[in-house]
Amino acid sequence: MIKIKDLTYQANDKLILNNISLEIEQNKITGIIGKNGSGKTTIIKHLSKEIKSKNSIFIDGKDIDNFNVKNYSKKIAFVFQEIDRTEGFTVKEIISLARYPYKKFWSDYTEEDRKKVEKAIEQFSLEKIENRQLTYISGGELKLTLIARALAQDTDIIVLDEPINHLDIDYQIKLMKTLKEIKNKTILMTIHNLELALKYCDNIIILNSGEIQDSGAVEIVINEENIKRAFNVECSITECMGEKIIIYKQK
Ligand code: ADP
Repeated sequence: MIKIKDLTYQANDKLILNNISLEIEQNKITGIIGKNGSGKTTIIKHLSKEIKSKNSIFIDGKDIDNFNVKNYSKKIAFVFQEIDRTEGFTVKEIISLARYPYKKFWSDYTEEDRKKVEKAIEQFSLEKIENRQLTYISGGELKLTLIARALAQDTDIIVLDEPINHLDIDYQIKLMKTLKEIKNKTILMTIHNLELALKYCDNIIILNSGEIQDSGAVEIVINEENIKRAFNVECSITECMGEKIIIYKQK
């Protein structure tokens, strides 16, 4: 379980995160929402250790600062917004890299490694493009590839930074459905599409100017009042074709 305790971060005299405390529920999908600049990516940068923290973030009771690189990679996988596509890897090769933390330096990938990679490729229906170079796949296929890689990494936790940005609505739904189908993993993601968050996330954290405005079960936390406060936009949450929809008042 991820626990964040009194996380405060300041850069260039600007307070970016102010005393954040959170517990991320195990084996659920938690969405972090909030305005641009509210601090979502900064939290993920702390989790990925791009920004160092001490005594503030714990996984299964252990300060993340005390995990070595290999053990941390076996615990938590990250799907960032973009990766360098130009390095000449194929889809299968990039997914296989996920097995690196398990590899002994003198040996090749094991049968288990190969099975995990095959399973991830199958789960995301990537067989048709598995031998294609990353430069020749679409943005949606790349996102699925990166999530497949995170799955092949065989961690308890997957963290995704805005995984559905820049994808068409068909791919957005496909991707959220795929994440929902992953069992027995804790998934934490930043997300801007509140309707998809309503449908596919279990829990929501709302960040507002570096502070937690509200957190809890999605159906409680995503409400008209919270949206007004977090985004300064009035809205009405209603239902259409059996789905919850949000109608935003255009100013
Ligand atoms: P979000 O992901 O919610 O859009 P970020 O976490 O990227 O927000 O950024 C939060 C705020 O912190 C923004 O206002 C951003 O400009 C600011 N910020 C991030 N890093 C730095 C830095 N190194 N120096 C100054 N300000 C920063």
